[in-house]
Amino acid sequence: MHAKGGRVYLIGAGPGDPELLTLKAVRALAAADVVLIDDLVDRAVLLHAPRARVVPVGKRGGCKSTPQHFIEKLMLRLARRGSVVARVKGGDPYVFGRGGEERLALEAAGIECIVVPGITSGIGVPASLGIPVTHRDVARGVTFVTAHARDGGSPDWAALARTGTTLVIYMGMQRIDEITAALSRAGMAATPAAVIERGTTLHERAATGTVATIAAQAATAGLGSPALIVIGDVVALATQARSALTLRRAAALN
Ligand code: SAH
Repeated sequence: MHAKGGRVYLIGAGPGDPELLTLKAVRALAAADVVLIDDLVDRAVLLHAPRARVVPVGKRGGCKSTPQHFIEKLMLRLARRGSVVARVKGGDPYVFGRGGEERLALEAAGIECIVVPGITSGIGVPASLGIPVTHRDVARGVTFVTAHARDGGSPDWAALARTGTTLVIYMGMQRIDEITAALSRAGMAATPAAVIERGTTLHERAATGTVATIAAQAATAGLGSPALIVIGDVVALATQARSALTLRRAAALN
């Protein structure tokens, strides 16, 4: 038998700015005995979990990381003991966040799992530059895609180019040359493009250009992960004033 009351909240903390947490996330954090926090999540969210023990579980691609099976086992052990566990992830738990895998593992073990959605970076980060991702007459929709598939294969960029949707590419920085070359071959060379690193945070930095130029611009600006690549005519609607503000803020921090 499991101890009474043990459960896991899988919480999306939003794209970076701690003020973009939901009220539901704040309430779940307040109830938590233990918080497992990803390294993309601002530590300021912990102000909402004053009672909790905090366990950092970084899992950044290519860096020192906590293996997924270890995190799942830890959540199971804690919940079985009766702890209320808050597993806090960047963005939304179900958008490139392994929330599905974790929920299935917990449910298979008979542990109650409550998912608290968050603002995915693909929505919050373009908004921070003033990019309206589905602006009418300019985009038919928005496609979230990762360049970093588990099977090592890459998306069909030519097919994506034909959709007429804004492309928001997660985890794409390691392959930005390859991605922009493929999209250029598919006729998008002159389409506006942006790279936004650590969007919505105090460390936000961005470059805008076209599909043909953005990889070199991002390299010159030294932009790296975590960043989103946003491609589509909507990028031309980015607020210049806000971009300038962001650059000043970044300069002030350097
Ligand atoms: N579940 C998360 C995504 C996790 S995958 C979400 O819904 O947002 C990690 C990738 O998300 C990063 O490589 C980057 O492409 C993107 N990302 C997350 N936060 C970001 C931020 N503040 N600025 C830019 N990109 C971000």
